Amino acid sequence: MGFNKAKGRMFKSVAWTWNPCAGCTHACKYCWAESLTRRWGKDFAPVFREKYLQDKFPNDGSWIFVGSMGDLFCEGMETEWILKVLKKIETAENNTFLLQTKNPLRFSEPHISYALEDIKDKIVLGTTLESTWDTSDLTKAPAPYERAYSLMNSKRDGYKTFLSLEPLADFDLKFLTSWIRRIKPEAIEIGLENYTSFTKKPSPSLICDLVEWLDKNDHTYILKENLDWVPQAIQEAIQ
Ligand code: SF4
Repeated sequence: MGFNKAKGRMFKSVAWTWNPCAGCTHACKYCWAESLTRRWGKDFAPVFREKYLQDKFPNDGSWIFVGSMGDLFCEGMETEWILKVLKKIETAENNTFLLQTKNPLRFSEPHISYALEDIKDKIVLGTTLESTWDTSDLTKAPAPYERAYSLMNSKRDGYKTFLSLEPLADFDLKFLTSWIRRIKPEAIEIGLENYTSFTKKPSPSLICDLVEWLDKNDHTYILKENLDWVPQAIQEAIQ
């Protein structure tokens, strides 16, 4: 069985993770999935686990995070594998699938875009942004502005969207909020780098400004454990 209970402070609708494809070619320096996979003595090259397509979906109304141990849309994933996974999703009756990637540019590839269109009501398309600035020193994934613009296009095409700001590095508040305004995500996860220290962390006041803006603009967000202090800091600043 390829489903695992979602752990940690994930968006509360996400109950399961499912990894019919695993591994990734983005080589993010802070990648915990790669460290974990290597600790298990395996390499992190993309793989397709076709037997997972035999799994029965939980059919419980929850969200399933597809590809928590890799990136389903990284360049190393073969189009044929992606199409098979999307075809399997088409059979789901009562689940929503979160397709989260640092390469949302692939959402608009011809075969993939047609397959996504067929399951539009069952999926949420997501991307991760660490910053609004250049991230080529951190990852081989497309630049944050390319990821953001791709997701804006998905929103414009009628998809539900999701944003992960984790691990959040220093960013420009004006750019980030203008992107969020256009992406209109169902929810936003925000967290700092946890186990490594490759990112230049944003200042506490910048994080508070972002959270205040999200509150003011009625966005749903979840703060990861390492940002537990933010609501208190905002309260103290107001008093
Ligand atoms: S995109 Fe995700 S899975 Fe791929 S290397 Fe980066 S953090 Fe790891």
